Amino acid sequence: MPRPSRRTENFTDSVIRRMTRISQRFDAINLSQGFPDFDPPKEILDRLAEVAYEGPHQYALTWGAKNFREALAAKQSRLMGFDIDPESDIVTTCGSTEAMMAAMMSVVDPGDRVIVFSPFYENYGADAVLSGAEPIYVPLHPPTFEFVKEELEAAFAQRPKAIILCNPSNPTGKVFTRAELQTIAKLAQEYDSYVITDEVYEHIVYGPHRHTYMASLPGMYERTISCSSLSKTYSITGWRLGYVIAPPEVIDVARKVHDFLTVGAAAPLQEAATVGLRFGDGYYRDLLDKYDGKRRLFLKGLDEIGIEHTDPQGAYYVMLDISEFGYDDDVRFCEDLAEKAGVGAVPGSTFFREDINHLIRLHFAKNDETLEAALERLSKMRDVL
Ligand code: GLN
Repeated sequence: MPRPSRRTENFTDSVIRRMTRISQRFDAINLSQGFPDFDPPKEILDRLAEVAYEGPHQYALTWGAKNFREALAAKQSRLMGFDIDPESDIVTTCGSTEAMMAAMMSVVDPGDRVIVFSPFYENYGADAVLSGAEPIYVPLHPPTFEFVKEELEAAFAQRPKAIILCNPSNPTGKVFTRAELQTIAKLAQEYDSYVITDEVYEHIVYGPHRHTYMASLPGMYERTISCSSLSKTYSITGWRLGYVIAPPEVIDVARKVHDFLTVGAAAPLQEAATVGLRFGDGYYRDLLDKYDGKRRLFLKGLDEIGIEHTDPQGAYYVMLDISEFGYDDDVRFCEDLAEKAGVGAVPGSTFFREDINHLIRLHFAKNDETLEAALERLSKMRDVL
C-alpha cells in the first residue's frame, strides 16, 4: 500500500471541529467551535437573495471581486490608519484559515522557524506543519497571559522568519497592549522577521481595552501580513470569506499561492457581503454592545456557579478551571461534559504547548436564551461528572 505523506504523519484532526461533531452526537448545546446561532445582518441576506438571480455565479477575479476589495480597502484604511490600495494590497481568501496558510506559504520555507505564542489557536500548528516551518513556542503566562520579554527575545535570537500574532487572542481573550505590540515590533525589526497577524476578533474588544493593528505601528507596515475575516464580524462563518492585507511585494506572492490553492472565494457571497463592508461605524458599535452583553451574562452565570474562569478582554471565549473535577484528561472531561451535562466545550490542551489539562474553553457567541440554557446545564455539572 502506498503511504500518506510524511508531512501529515503527526497530524491530528482539529479538536475544535471534532468537539462540534461530539456535541451533535449527544445533542449538547455547542459552546465549543466558535460560531453564532443568530442571523447575519438582514441587509446582507437581502442582497444575497438578489444576487441569487442577478449573479455573479461564475469565478470572481482570483484575488477577489473588485467591489469587495474596494469596499474592504475603504473600511480597513479607515480603521488601520494607512492607505490600502484595493488593486495591489489585498487578496480575498476562503476564510482567515486560508489567509493564514497563504501568508505562511508565501514567506516561509521548509526548515524556517516561526514563533507561536502558547496557548495558540490550533490551526497555527497545522499551518507550520504544512509549510514545513519549525515552531518556536513562547508562553503567554496565565493568569494575565503576558509574555516575558527575555523569553521572546531568546526566541527571536533563533532568527525566525515570522511570528504569528493572534490579537485579540483565541483562546485567552487577551488584547495585546500597544506597549506589548511595540516590544514585538522592535524585535521583529531587529531580527528582520515578518509578523503574520490573525485579527478576526478586531471588532470584539471590550472597553477599556482597545485594538491596535500591528501594521499601523511605525515601521511595521512593510513587514506585517494582516489576516482577518468577515466570519465573526458579520456572523457568516459558513461563507468562508477572509483576506490578507500586506505590501504589494507580499501580496504578489500570496495571490499565486491563493490562486493555486483555491482559485477564489465564492463570487456570489463576496458580492452579498460587500454590503456589510460598507456599513457605518454604528454597526460595529452595536456588534460590540451585543457581545459585551453576552459576556456579562455568561460570566455572571459562571460566577454564580462558582467556577474559576478567565476574564476576556476581547473575542468571545472563556477558559474554565476544571481542577476540582479530578480528571487528568481534559479531552475525556469534555466528552463527559457533552454526554452527561449536555454542553460542548474544547479541551484546553489543544491550545497549549505546555502540559496543561485543567482548562476547558467555552464560547458565548450565542443567543441569550441558548447561553441561559447552557448555564442551567452547567450549574448541574457537579452532580453528573
Ligand atoms: N475560530 C473558531 C474557534 O476557535 C473556529 C474556527 C473554525 O473552526 N474554522 O472555535
